[in-house]
Amino acid sequence: MSTAAHSSMKLAGQESQLVSKKRPMVIAGPCSAESEQQMLQTALGLQKVKGVTVFRAGIWKPRTRPGSFQGVGTIGLEWMRTVKQETGLRTACEVANTSQVELALQHGVDILLIGAHTTVNPFLVQEIADALKGVQVPVLVKNPVNPDLQLWLGALERLHHSGITDLGAMHRGFSTLDSAPYRNHPKWEHALELRQLVPDLAMYCDASHIAGRRSLLRPVSQRALDLGYDGLMVESHHNPAAALSDAQQQIMPQELHMLLQALKPNKTSAEKVKQGAQLEKLRKEIELLDDELLALMSRRTKVTAELGNFGKPTAEQSALPDPVRWDLVLENLLHQANTAGIDQGFVKTIFQEVRSQYARTHLYNYGLSS
Ligand code: PEP
Ligand code: MN
Repeated sequence: MSTAAHSSMKLAGQESQLVSKKRPMVIAGPCSAESEQQMLQTALGLQKVKGVTVFRAGIWKPRTRPGSFQGVGTIGLEWMRTVKQETGLRTACEVANTSQVELALQHGVDILLIGAHTTVNPFLVQEIADALKGVQVPVLVKNPVNPDLQLWLGALERLHHSGITDLGAMHRGFSTLDSAPYRNHPKWEHALELRQLVPDLAMYCDASHIAGRRSLLRPVSQRALDLGYDGLMVESHHNPAAALSDAQQQIMPQELHMLLQALKPNKTSAEKVKQGAQLEKLRKEIELLDDELLALMSRRTKVTAELGNFGKPTAEQSALPDPVRWDLVLENLLHQANTAGIDQGFVKTIFQEVRSQYARTHLYNYGLSS
């Protein structure tokens, strides 16, 4: 993933409605709006949960396959308004096109969410950004489904160009082949890199869509707090077993209360959080380098195996006896190590180990080892 220069976005900062002095700010509510009774019962439960200030519900659901529950549509926005009146909680819902933006604003939704399946599509994001020209509403942009930082940043920039300054990023993990045990792999380093590029951006963790299961909600939420995130989003339903979508990851309001109580607040300073992000990036870089080293070792093993198949070289095949040739090779390697500023002793130990591993196979192939 390439890194863009520091973004020049001017954001709401202290004025943002997406951050509160008491971190984390918590957004909670069902994956989908299902009925007025479900919305109200869940919201009344959430109203009692310390820390929850925003109620969310999916009104239109982007489902992988047709035939699954697609959301209740506009009627859900009426229920959302009732929730706001009855509980005083602010409200949030996902919007994925112009007409959804207009309907959500008409019904007084306080915070708009751009879903992961929308962030991947610059046409749709632009359409939403155009519909928001001249409107002051906080917007949280989820990461795209695939781990592409530029796409995430690009969506934020499109909204910012339309005049939206109260912007936040919501990290919901990435769809990868190796996501287990998560539903969506967190790949924390991508979110931290975005934060480095846009330091004033409110950063949220959608623990539910990263975790995909109740047992992982706590460790994922704690990690987000340790990394200095401003907010959390957790899906909550008064009766998760009966939920029409994402039943396996939703928790009851009382369970959310216990979860939030169990989290340890982050006492780390902003500077430490920044250092943590850099550390995370460097660790990732080392992991990638180790992968490359392993791939090189594998290639070397294959070539030495081929060499071994030739058997012991005769005087006509090789001008130098093998031990002499090896001494010259090693001398050359040590010279290169010296030039590159790498400890010669370290390089010598590694290559002697590599060499003796080769010699064992080699001798075996000559039929001399036993
Ligand atoms: C959701 O928040 O319910 C949702 C559909 O999320 P995402 O866009 O992360 O898939
Ligand atoms: Mn969901």
